[in-house]
Parts: sequence; C-alpha cells; structure tokens
Amino acid sequence: MICLNTEILKINADNIDQEKIEFAARILRNGGTVAFPTETVYGLGANALDEVAVRKIFHAKGRPADNPLIVHISDMKQLDRLVREIPDNAIKLAERFWPGPLTLIFKKSEIIPDVISAGLETVGIRFPSHPIAQELIHASHVPIAAPSANVSGKPSPTIAQHVIDDLMGKVDVIIDGGSVKVGVESTVLDITGGIPVLLRPGGVTVEELKSAVGEVMIDPVVLDKVTDHVIPRAPGMKYTHYSPKAQVIVVEGEDEKVIQKINMLTEQSKKAGLKVGVMAMDHTLHCYHADCILSVGNKELPSTIAANLFYTLREFDRAGVDIIYAQSVSEKGIGLAIRNRLNKAAGYNIIKV
Ligand code: AMP
Ligand code: MG
Repeated sequence: MICLNTEILKINADNIDQEKIEFAARILRNGGTVAFPTETVYGLGANALDEVAVRKIFHAKGRPADNPLIVHISDMKQLDRLVREIPDNAIKLAERFWPGPLTLIFKKSEIIPDVISAGLETVGIRFPSHPIAQELIHASHVPIAAPSANVSGKPSPTIAQHVIDDLMGKVDVIIDGGSVKVGVESTVLDITGGIPVLLRPGGVTVEELKSAVGEVMIDPVVLDKVTDHVIPRAPGMKYTHYSPKAQVIVVEGEDEKVIQKINMLTEQSKKAGLKVGVMAMDHTLHCYHADCILSVGNKELPSTIAANLFYTLREFDRAGVDIIYAQSVSEKGIGLAIRNRLNKAAGYNIIKV
C-alpha cells in the first residue's frame, strides 16, 4: 500500500479556521480523502460523485466492497439530485431530525456511483449537525461519502487519536476537532417502502422516530446475529464488528447477579493466565477485582455510555487485556444502539444470568 503524507489539522469547533477548512475542502474536490469529526463518530470522507476517490475510502479502511457508504450533505437543496424520489416521511423526518444523527435510505439517482451503494438501488443520506462537518461539506461543493474513520471491524473513532492510530499514512488529511458528542453511529432508517424500517439503531432513538412517523419496524438484524434465519437487507449489515483485540463477553441480568457472575468468570480467566478487563458502570466500578476495570458511564444517563463505549473498548486494547467482561444495558432509548454495538463487539457472546 502506498504511504500518504497525512496532514493533521487541528480545528476548534467553536471558532472554525476557514483557511484550514478550505485546505481540506480543496483536497476533497481534487479526489483526496479527509477524516473529520461529526456529532456521531469521526468519518472518512471523499467526493461521493468521484468513483476513484470513493474507492480510496474502501482501500484505506480495508472495507469490503459490498458494504455501502452514507452520503453526507450540508443543505437540503443537495438532496434532489441524489435521490429518485422524496417520500412524505422523508420530509417529516428531515424537518424533525436534520441536521442530526439520522441516515435515511432513498432510491438512488443515476449520479450516485455503484461503488457507493455497493450495487444496491438505494442510497443512505445524512445531514450532520457538527459545525466542522457542515463547513467542510459546504466548502467542498460536493456531497461527501463518509463511513466511520476506523480500520474495518474495529471500534469507531470518537477522538482524532483513534483515527491517527488506524489511518495515519492511509489518508490525506485528519481533522482533529476534539471528541464527538453522541459516540455511536447514526440511526439508519429505510423509507423506500410503506412502513419505515430501522436497519441500524443510533443517535436518534426508535421512540423519537415513532413520535414523528407513527409505526416503525425493526429489522431482526438490529439485535440478532446474521444466520440462515436472519438475513441482512443490505449486505453491509453483516459486517459491523466494532471489536477490540481482546475477546468481549457480555453479561446480562440484574446488577447483583451480573457482578457475581463477572467476578466468578474473572477468577477463572485469571487462573487460566489471562489478563482480564471488566467494563463496569459508575455504580459498579468498586465491585470488581479484575486487572483493568473501566466505567463506561452512568447507568441513569445512557447517553454517557453511548459517548464512552468505543473509547472504552479501545482503552482495554491499550491496557493489553486478553478478555473483557462487559455489563449489558437496557434497550430503552439510546440503549438499543449501545446493545447493538456491544453485542456485535462480543460476536454475540452473551451470558444471561
Ligand atoms: P458506516 O458509515 O461505517 O457506519 O457504515 C454505513 C452503514 O450504513 C452500512 O454498513 C449500512 O449498514 C448502512 N447503509 C448505507 N447505505 C445503505 C443502503 N443503501 N441501504 C442499507 N443500508 C445502508
Ligand atoms: Mg463503520
């Protein structure tokens, strides 16, 4: 693989340096790749209408070609050219949640290269709310294809250092805009049929979606492993692993039983010579005796767990643990997205107590 001379640009989201934005936008216009912060996770962007540029994203990430990319816009006016039709639900959802962490699946127009949609007839569109993402897309004058800016299969990046760890020398620019707010990727909602279908839970909750459009169906892939009985609607849905190097095991149930089980498993693993990590929460941090115990957040404030989840998984790797026992969370609100990512990180290795 050719090694690029990656430029790191530090940009303050509260006082955006337009010269730096223009520099990065020019790289995008000229077919290069730029990693940038969004409100969900860091994204790796390229001009969505330039097939050669888009291929660089797949190459840098080691992303399988059948995993489609989301196209990012910074103005509703860009939507018309990118999609074949705009259903009524799209207007309701966009008015309520855009800009924000919601990706809508439309029937794609002919200007969307096949490499973006991975051969599907549809395209995912998102209008991010992060000021740096907005300014960058606006200044580039093109829609920007951007998956998460991690090596495929790893936890998504929530700070620039994660992007540097994964993609240094593989992309043209990394914009360091500090840590992201939401911490899990956007909600993906298919609105091409009658009732909207949730393909990926994320920053906008199912409860919020229902309050805007009424009924929402949940694709079985959201909580279950892809098997002969659970077939993904989009090929890429089978790929998201979010996995740290260490093996992850999720333990689910009432706090007291979970603590007991994790402590028992910790003993067993230590005896087997493994270095053990426990992903606890603020209220259970003192209950464990593993080699590395990290709180993922406050049980009463699930948004803190979403914000810390990928960061914490990467911290366990830095600590060099062999196995991570993780407490599960409730499915309510953003909890559905957290469980989806955590279960995938664990390869659906879930112990119920
Ligand atoms: P990432 O940007 O890495 O979070 O990955 C984007 C994800 O969005 C893919 O893995 C799919 O799950 C989803 N996605 C993007 N485009 C489509 C599409 N046209 N149809 C269904 N899902 C899509
Ligand atoms: Mg991703």
